[in-house]
Parts: sequence; structure tokens; C-alpha cells
Amino acid sequence: MSVRAAGAVTLKRASEIDRMRAAGQILAGILDVLRADLRPGVTTGDLDAIAEGMIRDAGAVPSFLGYGSNPPFPGSICASINDEVVHGIPSTRRRLADGDVVSIDIGCILDGWHADCARTWTIGAVPRAVGNLLDATRRGMEAGIAAARPGNRLGDIGGAIEAVAHERGYGIVRPFVGHGIGQSMHEDPQVPNYGRPGTGLRIEVGMCFAIEPMFNLGGDEVFVADDNWTVRTVDGSLSAHFENTIAVTADGPQVLTERP
Ligand code: MG
Repeated sequence: MSVRAAGAVTLKRASEIDRMRAAGQILAGILDVLRADLRPGVTTGDLDAIAEGMIRDAGAVPSFLGYGSNPPFPGSICASINDEVVHGIPSTRRRLADGDVVSIDIGCILDGWHADCARTWTIGAVPRAVGNLLDATRRGMEAGIAAARPGNRLGDIGGAIEAVAHERGYGIVRPFVGHGIGQSMHEDPQVPNYGRPGTGLRIEVGMCFAIEPMFNLGGDEVFVADDNWTVRTVDGSLSAHFENTIAVTADGPQVLTERP
């Protein structure tokens, strides 16, 4: 059992963080395979089938499959293409094409402990502006992670992410945020991708967060499409999403969803 910090935020023991890291390493390995499979003509349904098979072969359970209601999410990954921000539904009818920007989000549960991560990749050649958007979103994630140190506050994470987005005037997706993670995929606290440094919940050793900025080439605004899942930019601009699950330790943040 995890102990409770102020509010409903759970603190994880080192042994519990080890179990989350084991889940995270499964995801890191799957993302390597998916990345190698990206090419024009591959469907997002193909990628989903590969991911689900690898999760189950590793003795884990896909955490996205069946999540929620209205309707339950039907995939083990989210695959969001171009102006789709997050929560795109994988489909054998959706083929990747040259020039596409595809965000893959994946989560699993191993022995009751969750990990959650996302990457955005491009298919073939893309304009420099697109590469810059992806680089900035990854840097935003890394800046947010670097701020997840004991004694800092949640606003330091969001403020660090927001500062990276503002360097080039990218839109920041505000209705969807990072989150605590542990024995549930979504735990308290919410971890916004914007904020005022020095404000908010104090970060403690043992907190685990999914830090996941979404930046748009255009404005901030997004909407949920008719499938009740896919989030898209209102102005049709391209969007990127990077996410890692991290643990706050006395030595600083530890990323659980990348290979050491
Ligand atoms: Mg997440």
C-alpha cells in the first residue's frame, strides 16, 4: 500500500517505483518496435495489434483498452495523426502517409502498477517547422521533468513547460493535462502544462507523475470529435505530444519509461 501525502496524492516506496519502472520498460521496448514499423501504408490498427501483443507477451495488461465509457476506448494505443492531438482511435482503415505526423500514446499495467508514455514521429520528409514543433514538445517534456524535484511545486513543472512553448509561440493544449500515476492510471494531482513557478502543491519524494505536454503549431484551442475520443485542433494545425512517467526521488526525477 502506498502512503498518502497531503490531499489524495499517494507517495510510492522505492519497491513500488521499481514495479512501475518494470511496466515502463515494457512500453519503452514497444515504442522502439513501433517506431521501426512506421512507414507509408501501415495502418494504426496494425500498430495497435503489435502493441497489444507485446504488452500481453510481457505479462502485462493494456491500460487504455476498455478505458472509460461512451464508448470504452477500443485500442491499446492512441494513434493521433496531424491535427489530432491525443486519444485518436487506432483503425485498420487508417493508413499512414508520407509527411504525416503521428503521436503514439501507450500504457500498461504490470502486477497492478501503471506506466504511461507517448512519442510523436514523422513519416518521411516534413517541413522544418514540423520538426521544430516536435523538438520543442520533447524539450517541453524534459523541462517539466527537470522541474519535478523535491521541494519544488507543481507550478514549476507547468511553468517550465509553458516557457518552452512560448519560445516559438506554439499553442499549449490546456484542457488535457499530466497526472499522478501508480495503482491507477490517473491519480491526483493533475499536472498542467502551464502554470506559475513557485505555486501549487509541493513536490515530495515518492510522488510519481505522467508529464505530457501537447503543443500545437497554431493556437491553443482543441475539440473532441464525433467519436467522443479524438481530440483535434480547432484551427486544423499540427500537434505533437510527448509523455514520460517519472518518479520523484531524493536525487531528483527518474524517468521510468525510457531505457537507462
Ligand atoms: Mg497520460
